[in-house]
Amino acid sequence: MFHYPRAGRFMPFAAYDHDMTADRAGVVVVGAGIAGVACATELVRAGVPVEVRERGRVTGGRMASRRFDGRPADLGAAYFTVDDPDFAAVVADWQAAGLVREWTDTLVAYGPRGREEVTGPVRWAAPRGLRSLVEHLAAGLPVTHDRLVMTVEPGPRVDGRAAEAVVLAMPGPQAALLLDPAFAEATRAVAAQRWASTLSAVLHFPSRRWPDFRGAFVNDHPVLSLVCDDGDRRGDGAPVLVAHTTAEFAAGHLLQPTAARPAVEQAVRDLLGLPEPATSTHVHRWTYARPVRVAEGGTYHLDADGIGLAGDAFGRPRVQSAWRSGRDLGRALADRLCAG
Ligand SMILES: Cc1cc2nc3c(=O)[nH]c(=O)nc-3n(C[C@H](O)[C@H](O)[C@H](O)COP(=O)(O)OP(=O)(O)OC[C@H]3O[C@@H](n4cnc5c(N)ncnc54)[C@H](O)[C@@H]3O)c2cc1C
Repeated sequence: MFHYPRAGRFMPFAAYDHDMTADRAGVVVVGAGIAGVACATELVRAGVPVEVRERGRVTGGRMASRRFDGRPADLGAAYFTVDDPDFAAVVADWQAAGLVREWTDTLVAYGPRGREEVTGPVRWAAPRGLRSLVEHLAAGLPVTHDRLVMTVEPGPRVDGRAAEAVVLAMPGPQAALLLDPAFAEATRAVAAQRWASTLSAVLHFPSRRWPDFRGAFVNDHPVLSLVCDDGDRRGDGAPVLVAHTTAEFAAGHLLQPTAARPAVEQAVRDLLGLPEPATSTHVHRWTYARPVRVAEGGTYHLDADGIGLAGDAFGRPRVQSAWRSGRDLGRALADRLCAG
């Protein structure tokens, strides 16, 4: 394994372009969600050459914001919370850049006891969508989009090209598709993960005719688990709700998520007593929405084969855990590659 001189300061990529040869990449980070981006940031900081490959057209992963008539709506993570001081420093940078705002510490819960207010930690929201936060972190990183990685083979080799190390920053079942089973430790680590699905629905209404609420946990419901007022969290007052379904409901609609549209819309209207139908409802499928079994033994996986795994499976299913996992893996990998 090549050892890189540790950079005393952040190096622009051009400064170590000479380290990259046509047949050997530095570290290949697969996945430009917040975990992959946090990992690549640490590697770059340490002076390690990095390539980030993302199958999607945009950065962000499950911090997904899709535009409808030019207005973003958050289709994946609904908000995030902060209790790690290091992550709080990242959030402070986002805040200084005008990208995030404190949304609320009070949501409502619908359940067998009716409707009640529940107070908890401050939930943070992003006026331009949560994806804008990952894009901000990734500014300056060499991210290639529309780049589906197909194989990670012994070497390690990524789609046939040798790399110093490979980071798979994605849900375990997605990583399993790429990993050669010869990577026994990493294969065991991804096989131990269990994931649940969700459908997210973005519902546009003619006007805001719902009761005063910002977001609602929905307990013991056959269809819904969460409904958020996207106009409220975004701060523009648009008449848009985003609903997340239960894993059980989603599991029955993974093959044809659009077929779930009428049931989700009706469930939201019944829950909130909405007189008007939605003018449009878009349904998005998250086959691997959240880990239901958390990996034991640390915030990331890194083995002697040069395979790293990062993401929210190494903590609670939260934005903060995914960031911390990627950051910690990036530091560990930098220490290994820069030692000696
Ligand atoms: C519906 C929903 C609601 C949520 N609500 C909340 C919430 O309220 N609060 C909270 O804190 N968290 C929430 N989360 C969780 C949060 O979104 C995640 O914890 C976090 O975004 C995970 O980031 P990640 O980088 O680990 O993974 P991801 O964001 O999934 O990133 C993985 C990336 O890898 C890419 N990829 C996969 N395979 C390949 C391949 N073969 N080649 C190239 N690229 C590939 C994917 O396209 C993706 O961009 C929610 C998630 C969902 C889906």
